[in-house]
Amino acid sequence: MTAEPKDILAEIKGYEDELIAIRRDIHAHPETGFEEVRTAALVAKTLRGWGIETHEGIAKTGVVGTLKGTRPSNNRAVALRADMDALFIEEKTGLPYASTVPGKMHACGHDGHTAMLLGAARYLSENRDFAGTVHFIFQPAEEGQGGGRLMVEEGLFDRFPADAVYGMHNNPGRAVGEFGIRPGPMMAAADTWTVTFGGTGGHGGSAPHLATDPTVVLAHFILAVQAIVGRNIPSVEPAVISVGHVSGGSAGSPNIIPPEVVVSGTARSYSPQVRDTIERRLRETAEGLAATYGCTAAVDYNRRYPTLVNHPEQTDIAAGVAARIVGEDKVATRIPLITGAEDFSFMLEQRPGAFIMIGNGVNPDGSYHYVHTPHYDFNDEILALGSTYWVTLVGQELGVQE
Ligand SMILES: [Zn+2]
Ligand SMILES: [Zn+2]
Repeated sequence: MTAEPKDILAEIKGYEDELIAIRRDIHAHPETGFEEVRTAALVAKTLRGWGIETHEGIAKTGVVGTLKGTRPSNNRAVALRADMDALFIEEKTGLPYASTVPGKMHACGHDGHTAMLLGAARYLSENRDFAGTVHFIFQPAEEGQGGGRLMVEEGLFDRFPADAVYGMHNNPGRAVGEFGIRPGPMMAAADTWTVTFGGTGGHGGSAPHLATDPTVVLAHFILAVQAIVGRNIPSVEPAVISVGHVSGGSAGSPNIIPPEVVVSGTARSYSPQVRDTIERRLRETAEGLAATYGCTAAVDYNRRYPTLVNHPEQTDIAAGVAARIVGEDKVATRIPLITGAEDFSFMLEQRPGAFIMIGNGVNPDGSYHYVHTPHYDFNDEILALGSTYWVTLVGQELGVQE
């Protein structure tokens, strides 16, 4: 592929209105994880309309489009991934194309991610002078349900072999026309845990000495988990453990010691060692404290999303592609660690690749609405730029046969 990024951008700008219409249509009809039926149908119909071989029903509601270039090829293939799901948030933007579904909203910009990848699919369907195969992956259920994991478990890369896989997320607070990335760990591993402390319970007023009391264990435990970060994790390694939910007993019976209390929370980390340490020490702390007070502890530690780790070679390729479009000074190649998690991490465990952040913009006063908030909106100004990134990346990866 010989087109320069500025010419690609100009061509995509020519049909930007179509991408904006698609983006706003998806925005107005948000669907949450594994229920992206309308969105998937729209994606599949659009891809087929451009003559792209399209596969539906992958990881329930996922779609994959496959496009072969016309140049002689050594069977090299790249996969480009967007996500399609919305969140359980009540939209408060008041926009004309705001969510029409009560309690659901595209508050993470996956409507925009889908439209940007469609924009690239259209360009490439009309400009097939590349060597190899592009797989356009539209995955379901990124927000907490692990659609990326399910795609991988279903054999995504056996069915659609790829030498590299790339992802992109919009980044509120980063200026329009700027990109950010870093090699190695970039986003956190996100786990959840639940501990159930059991005792006999009893009459808290008249006979506490006859009871074993899980509330006392719980009180010690909540303080003690913070010592895991402070005393078991090396101080140069980031880690978070937070309690998010506590329950037990009855508000109507303050004189009764409950036989069971439950505490749950989250844990974030960036290295497998730190993750192992958190799980091990959480168990030891819960079981040790329970034993001290004659109680029991049942620990359920759920490893949800692994750390998102960018592969160095593909990170350089992604940053280089972005720099060709917007200039080297607009591409941050060592952004700080992001405490959010992403299930694109499952795909990066299978294939080399990289995940890049594209600026969603900042208001003149420096403010912005972050993702997962009711006033957030994906910025249509970056649609054509995002599509140009994908197309330029394909040109870089599959431009000429080696
Ligand atoms: Zn999100
Ligand atoms: Zn997201």
